[in-house]
Amino acid sequence: MDGFPTEHINARMDKIMCFNFDKNKKRISSTLVAVALGLLPFFAPFIVHGQQFDLLIKNGRVIDPKNQIDSKLDVAVKDGKIAKVGKDIPSAQAKKVIDASGLLVTPGLIDIHTHVFVGSKPDTFADGFSSVSPDDFTFRSGVTTVVDAGTSGWRNFSVFKDHVIDKSQTRVLAFLNISGTGMSGNPEQQDVNDMDAHMTSLAIKKYPEIIVGVKIGHVEGMEWTPFDRALEAARLSDVPLFVECHLPQLPLQEQLSKMRPGDIITHSFEKVSERMPVVDEQGALRPFVLEARNRGVLFDVGHGGFGFWFSQAMPALKQGLAPNSFGTDLHRFSMNAGMKSMLNVMSKYLAMGMSIEDIVLRASWNAAKSVKREDLGQLSEGAVADIAVLSMLHGNFGFVDAGGNKIEGDHKLEAEMTVRAGKIVWDLNGLSAVELKK
Ligand SMILES: [Zn+2]
Repeated sequence: MDGFPTEHINARMDKIMCFNFDKNKKRISSTLVAVALGLLPFFAPFIVHGQQFDLLIKNGRVIDPKNQIDSKLDVAVKDGKIAKVGKDIPSAQAKKVIDASGLLVTPGLIDIHTHVFVGSKPDTFADGFSSVSPDDFTFRSGVTTVVDAGTSGWRNFSVFKDHVIDKSQTRVLAFLNISGTGMSGNPEQQDVNDMDAHMTSLAIKKYPEIIVGVKIGHVEGMEWTPFDRALEAARLSDVPLFVECHLPQLPLQEQLSKMRPGDIITHSFEKVSERMPVVDEQGALRPFVLEARNRGVLFDVGHGGFGFWFSQAMPALKQGLAPNSFGTDLHRFSMNAGMKSMLNVMSKYLAMGMSIEDIVLRASWNAAKSVKREDLGQLSEGAVADIAVLSMLHGNFGFVDAGGNKIEGDHKLEAEMTVRAGKIVWDLNGLSAVELKK
């Protein structure tokens, strides 16, 4: 699938051009001119169109929910952007052609709940060992954008930016913690005096292209002050509030009632002592939860180590509460447990009966919109070329929740190839590699 043999054309063109400019040949043979002119109609289409694209992904099932596309199409990339999406784009027009027959081609996936402020502090998430390095876990799961869920605050955001965000190929966005030092452990992160709405909003104003919201979480006590300050910072900056629960003494109903349309609650389907579950003991979805959803509060999965239980997620789904996004809550303690990866979380919803179109919508366009980054999560012409090429495996698979409960499914998603800003950053089976010459 290398396209038209352009070296051959170039060699032929060189011969013609060299001859024309060869100073020793003052007189140009009319025969050769005639040959050259005769060849022009043959070369012309390749001169005009030859290899105008850097990358062409052919014959995949393109699912682009933003543009309501679900069809067998080709996707062409140039200069890091989506150049064209259409039927039968000629292979000759691209430098590199990928055959995606039988595969899904989707926007690069967006994980809106991660902890990637990795550093050397042994016991913290902020600048610590409990976070993970984004590139180590994203591309192999089709993810091209992560949002860090408040691992940093306004005091240490610049360290996060310098050490991780600017050094990662993954696009790293961030919710800024209302705690000045983010998830720096107790007692530091509990210090209400260091929860400064004004300073938090100033940092957001300084880095509008990276910081997409404010996060509240991991706060103890019955005081509403931390929650209210986080909400105030979000209001001042006109960004969403990301509520990561772990607010044991604050009733869920009151939390939801304080949240505005567009604010995001995560760990939506957790069943732990520190927060009231969304589904009650009789298996009924609590009416005030559905009410909040209908009012525009967004529900993220936030799987993590303890944030996802089938006994909550399955009845919730049946009763109309599907998650808006598949935030994984990726960190050192969730990645090797039931959560595993973004695609594993998405595959759980496949096993629970959600359609692949609905799953891709939540993993791309919905996630982009929830952090007000409508430039992402799509394959529109002109958009950044963040692309996931996925295979749908068939077989017997087991999916485990945070409580060690298992359901089985016969499908599972796997990332064949991931493209970030036009560059192939993951290629599981060498789709883009050259066949070894024997
Ligand atoms: Zn988290």
